[in-house]
Amino acid sequence: MAKKQFKAESKRLLDLMINSIYTHKEIFLREILSNASDAEDKLAYRALTDDSVGMNRGDFKIVITPDPIARTLTISDNGIGMTKEELDANLGTIARSGSRQFKEGLDAEAKPEDIDVIGQFGVGFYSAFMVSDAVTVVTKPFGGETAYRWHSTGLDGYTITECDKSGAGTDVILHLKPDTEDEKYGDYLEEYQIQSLVKKYSDYIHYPIEMLLHKSRQKPRPEDAGDDYRPEWEDYTEWATLNSMVPLWQRKKDDVTDDEYAAFYREKFQDYDKPLDVIKVSAEGTVSYEALLFIPSQTPYDFYTREYEKGLQLYSSGVLIMDKCADLLPDYLRFVKGVVDTQDVSLNISREMLQHTRELKVIAKNLDKKVRAELEKLLRDDREKYEAFWKAFGTQMKYGIVSNYGVDKDKLQDLLLFASSAGERQTTLKEYRERMPEAQQFIYYASGEDANKLAKLPQAERILDAGYEILYLTEDVDEFTMQVLGEYDGKTIKSINAEDALPETEEEKKAAEEKAESGKAVLDFLKETLGERIKEARISRILKSHAVCMVSDGPMSLEMEKYLRRQHADMGGMQAERVLEINPDAPVFAALQSAMESDPEKAKKYAELLYCQALLIAELPLEDPSAYTDLVCSLMV
Ligand code: ADP
Repeated sequence: MAKKQFKAESKRLLDLMINSIYTHKEIFLREILSNASDAEDKLAYRALTDDSVGMNRGDFKIVITPDPIARTLTISDNGIGMTKEELDANLGTIARSGSRQFKEGLDAEAKPEDIDVIGQFGVGFYSAFMVSDAVTVVTKPFGGETAYRWHSTGLDGYTITECDKSGAGTDVILHLKPDTEDEKYGDYLEEYQIQSLVKKYSDYIHYPIEMLLHKSRQKPRPEDAGDDYRPEWEDYTEWATLNSMVPLWQRKKDDVTDDEYAAFYREKFQDYDKPLDVIKVSAEGTVSYEALLFIPSQTPYDFYTREYEKGLQLYSSGVLIMDKCADLLPDYLRFVKGVVDTQDVSLNISREMLQHTRELKVIAKNLDKKVRAELEKLLRDDREKYEAFWKAFGTQMKYGIVSNYGVDKDKLQDLLLFASSAGERQTTLKEYRERMPEAQQFIYYASGEDANKLAKLPQAERILDAGYEILYLTEDVDEFTMQVLGEYDGKTIKSINAEDALPETEEEKKAAEEKAESGKAVLDFLKETLGERIKEARISRILKSHAVCMVSDGPMSLEMEKYLRRQHADMGGMQAERVLEINPDAPVFAALQSAMESDPEKAKKYAELLYCQALLIAELPLEDPSAYTDLVCSLMV
């Protein structure tokens, strides 16, 4: 019989499992039981629409059979089973995203002893090899005629042969390794040990996990027993259900420990980290449901890729209807994971129809509110935790503001955090607003890559000197967010680059106009020299001690241009309209003015120089850096 080879990456994981010296090998049972439960789920779902399944919810179960003589542990389910092709594909390759993630988390040279994280990941079927030196899987697919036997003794591959099996379902038979000094693999055949592992890891599985228990009891005292009767004992067996089957989300929050929630979360959503926050919702009314939601503590590795799918698991009366029901979450909360269980969604409804049901919409609306309320509470009561949340998912919340033309901005604006000139800590708009002096008319922001650099921008000086706070926007999406917000609590949000960022008195206005008038020749000269590179040169009203800065005119800001540049290499000629601002009070202004008269060639060089400096400050690329350095040098000699 020809042996088939495992796929390369599966082989690697298998190798790690076989040679693992990980101390909590016991988690293999959780993994196998969870697969069995999934298989039951699949058939139970099928039964809803397919009468030929002929099974009711109560008919599904998982049976564990330890056999000390054969030294095998068998886990049987009457779920969907596998076809030959599925056997080949599912057990010959890493299927599970968790396992893949696990594998990616390991560097190629990882040794078995490096792996202390096995228990945290769902590592799936192959974990059986931590405790077994051979594994047999006997399976018959629902609706199929033939049963198959998959067998593997490890790295050298596996075989698939036909065999006999009565009903649909799967038996996973683990041939336990021999005991060693350190590891008593035989313990996994002990009934008490199996009972306690099921309780510990798989209690909430909503199908009964049954085992035949061997017990002994005193025989009843015979009626005619004399005074010298000695009690007699007899052995007997009794089926027992090892798990309580109450899903975690059906239990009251007070009855569940943080560790239980964390374990459930890890197992169900294959996340190595503990959840940042757990939200339990229990609703009764027009639509009744239980929901258990989790906010992850880290951005999932694929969060910003197409692979990432938002959604909550949807159960109807304990039957899994949909693994990722997207309609239960708004996009800005797409990081939320969890489970919703309701009796009010019909079991027989198709997935397409489901999305349009009123019940689902009611649930989605409530959950949206609950999650936002929870985030607001965190922000208020546990700032540190909120900041951790913000670090992981703040960008997503800002996208929430920007998308759909800002329809959700009122819901989200008070959840935003920004770096600010007011201190080390990030601030909310509300806090900013509360700090605003009476005279301050606008909410100010500056945008760029780094808050420290923003604080030193020439344009920032006079705002800061006026005693006003500036929000430092350092993410691509920030400036769009501000544009969509437009204002907050009656105050317009303004870039420090805006000409009217600081309101001027009539006198100041007049003085500025006069300066512009008298500097006109300089401005014309600058425009003439720099040509199309700038839209215009302007006497600055936003600079205080510095000489020049670059701002933009029109709807596209320089930051947006930079963002677009990063997104698409080819901008199709789109760019922000640049305006070179020059400070009429800066000594270089006078220097330029006099050079224009005495040495026009030199004056042209000055114009170039000022232009390049404005680009540098704005962190825009110089068109020709070496020409720039030549220019500086030529002015030095
Ligand atoms: P995961 O369960 O996360 O997908 P596993 O490595 O544990 O990853 O299992 C691989 C696949 O094998 C499963 O996705 C499933 O399709 C199949 N499988 C495993 N156990 C069973 C079972 N008892 N019944 C039916 N299919 C199973």
